[in-house]
Amino acid sequence: MRWNKQDKKSSPIIIRCVICDRVINRNSLVALSNKSISICQTCYLELDPKYQEIVIDSVKGLFIYNYDSKFQDILYLYKGCYDLPLRSCFLSYSINFIKVRYRNYIFVPLPSYKARDKERGFNHIEEILKFNALPYLNLLKKDKDIKQSSLSKEQREQEKNLFSLNETIDLSNKKICLIDDVITTGSSMRQALRLIRSLKPKKITFLVLSHPVYKGKTCCKNH
Ligand SMILES: [Zn+2]
Repeated sequence: MRWNKQDKKSSPIIIRCVICDRVINRNSLVALSNKSISICQTCYLELDPKYQEIVIDSVKGLFIYNYDSKFQDILYLYKGCYDLPLRSCFLSYSINFIKVRYRNYIFVPLPSYKARDKERGFNHIEEILKFNALPYLNLLKKDKDIKQSSLSKEQREQEKNLFSLNETIDLSNKKICLIDDVITTGSSMRQALRLIRSLKPKKITFLVLSHPVYKGKTCCKNH
């Protein structure tokens, strides 16, 4: 019995990558500085991290990954197949950087249509924020179940009121960072920025998990 106890105590904890199930090297620099690491370095690099800035309506934001097929697959498994443990993977390698860059910021998720969250059983952005202990406020709601990327440019311009404010609060002492999973044309983010700006935040920026990059160039049409 005593031997078993000692053996149990000294046996290393094995962490497996939530994407590929490979064992994560606990002695790597990233793993040592981030106790909640959940993906291996190979999967991280395959997700094609970019950390590039983009500008929408004069507001500077940042996206982390290229929106390529690997990222699309993982996002589909998470959002479409309700694979909740994948919530840990998106900020796994960047959480320390994000906590420094957005210190004193409150995150505001771009909302999904409520019925979609109900069907899924969770809001995918909120779960990522909760997992990483990032402060957030649900200031926006989505009133229509329309996917912006499915609309033409003209239709998108007509759909000016895709979101509305959940509450009208004074943000003059608050720094706000809007957060979304994907930016393609930038039109949803533009609408969200306009609404949050009406609450006069002290500072405003945005963070997006992914954005398509072609030959090193971003394709946001609404700079
Ligand atoms: Zn992996």
